[in-house]
Amino acid sequence: MTVDITAAPLKVAIVGGGPGGLATAIALQKIPSVEVTIYEQASVLREVGAGISIGANSWKVLELLGVADQVNTGHETYTVLNLNGRSGEEVHRREKPHSATGRPPIRTQRTKLQSALLSAVRPGTIKLSKKLVKMEDQGAKGISLTFKDGTSSVVDLVVGADGIRSVVRDTAFPAYPDTLKFTGTTIWRTLLPWSAVSDLDPRFGTTAWWHTPTTHVYFSPVGEGLWEIAARAWHDPAVHSASKVSWGVPVTNEHVESHFTEYLPQIREALARVSAGGWREFAAFAGPEIPTLTAWSNRVVLVGDSSHALSGAFGSGAGFAMEDGWILARALAYYANDTGRALSLFNEIRLPYYARMYEYLASEAARRAKKLADIGDPTFDERVRGKVISDGGGGLDWIYQNDIEAVWKTAVGYGPTDTSNFGPIHASI
Ligand SMILES: Cc1cc2nc3c(=O)[nH]c(=O)nc-3n(C[C@H](O)[C@H](O)[C@H](O)COP(=O)(O)OP(=O)(O)OC[C@H]3O[C@@H](n4cnc5c(N)ncnc54)[C@H](O)[C@@H]3O)c2cc1C
Repeated sequence: MTVDITAAPLKVAIVGGGPGGLATAIALQKIPSVEVTIYEQASVLREVGAGISIGANSWKVLELLGVADQVNTGHETYTVLNLNGRSGEEVHRREKPHSATGRPPIRTQRTKLQSALLSAVRPGTIKLSKKLVKMEDQGAKGISLTFKDGTSSVVDLVVGADGIRSVVRDTAFPAYPDTLKFTGTTIWRTLLPWSAVSDLDPRFGTTAWWHTPTTHVYFSPVGEGLWEIAARAWHDPAVHSASKVSWGVPVTNEHVESHFTEYLPQIREALARVSAGGWREFAAFAGPEIPTLTAWSNRVVLVGDSSHALSGAFGSGAGFAMEDGWILARALAYYANDTGRALSLFNEIRLPYYARMYEYLASEAARRAKKLADIGDPTFDERVRGKVISDGGGGLDWIYQNDIEAVWKTAVGYGPTDTSNFGPIHASI
């Protein structure tokens, strides 16, 4: 199916207005003969959570989307530390190499990324208060979407950018539903003024993870005089999963602090200085690998968290979601809106990438377990040393230095220095 410009434009519905949905819309807007609408369940687009890391892979796709300069503040994370939260011992220091792109790795506020993306989405593209409740394949007519407010729409292509609890995935990939499981990790996140804690420890000005064997507290400046805490604790999911559905819900200071009583006094004091009502709780869920990213004869495709419920395992999920959106648009442009061929190519490029992440996580879990087993009966400090988070190091350049433009060019047989339009220009567009 090759679409020419005299034909009706390809009607694309993006379900979800997170980083994946917004990036997909921006990328699709740049190609001809595509009509894009984002359907978002929220009545107001707002980001919950606190900070977000932007490294070389995310910068690359933000540049391709034309919004990198809009993400204009943040804290440079060239140095990251791992410390023992009970003794203060520095167990690992990573000094990141300076990037050839000239854009430093940063920790910034999640709202900065969202505003940058929003600024590039064409006005009128986003429809709010549109919670997808039903999706049906109507054959040649298209795919019908029904929203909670009773309205509906029929489109040619549905992009499921509706996050980890994706209705699009659960409808179009029936083998997958109900497989999400609480990982055992609960995260509490907040932002507070740096001035509120700067007297406590000079190391708090450096991005760092402070650990005990089953918890950690992440401290980082995020720019504009703000400072982030993301504190995590692990509980046996077999015992706690029933009560865990929370995502961004307010919790009391006492509740958060009760998980971090073993820490150094200055860390406990930093937690105590969070204003009442400042904490939000996030329970991390994960799901298995999905065998394909496309369904319903290549008229449904998943981008971002909906397709890989990795629970923020690599701290770069927004980057992955944006890369998905950019590749999808490139593939549609390349095949002149032939969704069959474009989505097959998208699947060929992105599915193995996510498969590699699942494989890495499984081997890493096995490696860590073996290391601890080899020690026999590890002490508190030995267990802490086994928990180092390398933030982009550790042989993960294929993620953190990923150049999605080079990936595309390789996939379609173009050389890395080729600056042509990434593929054949079809006469019809
Ligand atoms: C604790 C934590 C820390 C993280 N840190 C980082 C980091 O530092 N860097 C990074 O790059 N990534 C990070 N991530 C991952 C990142 O937040 C996610 O991977 C990213 O938000 C995924 O984007 P998305 O657009 O796929 O989904 P989401 O951001 O989940 O957006 C989905 C959207 O779909 C909407 N939606 C859902 N269901 C429906 C429906 N039925 N109808 C209509 N709309 C619907 C939702 O309201 C939401 O707006 C972190 C994740 C976690 C949990």
